[in-house]
Amino acid sequence: MEGRNEDQIFNGGDGMKTRLIGMNADELGKVARETGLPKFAAGQMARWLYVKKAGDIEMMTDISKEGRQRLAERYEVGVTGYSDLQISSDGTKKYLFPVLGEHRSPSGDRLERGAVEAVMIPDGDRSTLCVSSQSGCRMGCRFCMTGRQGFHGHLSAADIISQFLAVDESDSLTNAVFMGMGEPLDNYGEVMRAIEILTAPWGFAWSPKRITLSTVGVLPALRRFLDESRCHLAVSLHSPFSDERLSVMPVEKAYPIRDVVDLIREYDFTGQRRVSFEYTMFSGFNDSRRHADALIRLLSGLECRVNLIRFHSIPDFPYAASPDLIIENFRDRLNRAGITATIRASRGEDILAACGMLAGRHGTGKNAGSGEESAGKSVAGKSVAEKEDES
Ligand code: SF4
Repeated sequence: MEGRNEDQIFNGGDGMKTRLIGMNADELGKVARETGLPKFAAGQMARWLYVKKAGDIEMMTDISKEGRQRLAERYEVGVTGYSDLQISSDGTKKYLFPVLGEHRSPSGDRLERGAVEAVMIPDGDRSTLCVSSQSGCRMGCRFCMTGRQGFHGHLSAADIISQFLAVDESDSLTNAVFMGMGEPLDNYGEVMRAIEILTAPWGFAWSPKRITLSTVGVLPALRRFLDESRCHLAVSLHSPFSDERLSVMPVEKAYPIRDVVDLIREYDFTGQRRVSFEYTMFSGFNDSRRHADALIRLLSGLECRVNLIRFHSIPDFPYAASPDLIIENFRDRLNRAGITATIRASRGEDILAACGMLAGRHGTGKNAGSGEESAGKSVAGKSVAEKEDES
């Protein structure tokens, strides 16, 4: 687990309160020590924050009244409520969260430094939350509205965990995908801290099998993720040919997909851990038989799944969605070659449930289209509206 400068956690007495959510057991232990609470108060705080989901320190009634008062002088729970909500006819819900900076208004409220989205996707008895890890993104994928918005900052573990605690379905979530705004492996320390809180016995106590992290393939951080977690992995692939992939995904230059696949081959995905590859189908770009055959060669022998994603066009991107028949033929060709391929059901299209659209509508992105331009369109750079299919 990546270390943190304590200044990030403990404000230096400048009058601002520090958020307790996003802290792991060790950090809560430091808070307990610093506020003169007994050592076991760290466990009490963790239970109130992550199990009982207390919204206020005052609710932590097994901590003494004086202890709570001392805590509240410098700390707050720190869940940020959503500022907008859209509900699709299929039940998918899209939440918009302000990202609050450390600067304060004269009245003491934290000032906004952007907005991010989280999407809740219901599917039978499952509820998957797709969370954001950054405000904007610096990967610059050309088919993605978030990529076009530029980069506005990393989310802290508190910002990420807050998404889980603030949605209306907080108590009934079954799965999580790091597929919202941002590249999670570009914010490795905070994302892994959030995953630690989600999976630790003192935290949410989720199995890592309930969590999938989606990446374009930032190699050094990917190796660490594969070594340090047991969560599922999804890789945005989109073309088996390096020059073509580079034309829509600048990351290909630093971290070619062939190297990403070679790294993945070093790990065991024959057991409970799964790897999948996201492949958005662009008409006339990556949907030919030649592409299917190259994809089969690239992934040959790897225990994996390919998710074929219908593209929803965005302004100033030259490719349209592949026709359904082409997608189905592509899927069948992969399946005949022994690679499990599925076509992902689109969810929440009527509420723009793909990454970057809602935040873009709210003008948080530098290059986002106006609400009118964006309305009714969505993008599937990553299929944020997709559903995870295993618990
Ligand atoms: S697809 Fe993902 S990695 Fe690429 S720009 Fe969009 S958010 Fe960033």
